[in-house]
Amino acid sequence: MSQKVIDLLNKARSRELTAITQYMSQHYELEDSDFGKLASKFKEIAIAEMKHAEKLAERILFLKGEPTSKPDALAKKGQQIPQMLTTNMALEAGAMKMYNEAAMVCAAEKDQISKELFEELLKDEEGHFNYFENTKDHVEKLGAAYLATLAG
Ligand code: FE
Ligand code: FE
Repeated sequence: MSQKVIDLLNKARSRELTAITQYMSQHYELEDSDFGKLASKFKEIAIAEMKHAEKLAERILFLKGEPTSKPDALAKKGQQIPQMLTTNMALEAGAMKMYNEAAMVCAAEKDQISKELFEELLKDEEGHFNYFENTKDHVEKLGAAYLATLAG
């Protein structure tokens, strides 16, 4: 069993824990300011990240490592919607870069299952990145009219 792979899985888990707290905190802020539709979408993505954190923990345990419970950053609070989207795009882009590289290390360490896990997460993060990016584009191009569609 490769310690290198366990460390990468834990690094990924820390990133997932950051994403969970960030998106849930935004979820509460958006609910509070009546952007219910956007809030539910953020919550849905936070739940996807919880599943990622869980899959990483299962793999770490299988490899006889200890799953970390430390996020790698603090959640940013009090941001406006465009800034929230920028924050989230950076989290997702960082995760994508990390998971791409991790998959290559897993291949070199001959751990096919961990490699496939990173590839699976990578695919989801691309989807999340696209969602945040498209939403940001719409907010920038359409402004208040688009923001109104996210309320409720
Ligand atoms: Fe994730
Ligand atoms: Fe994600």
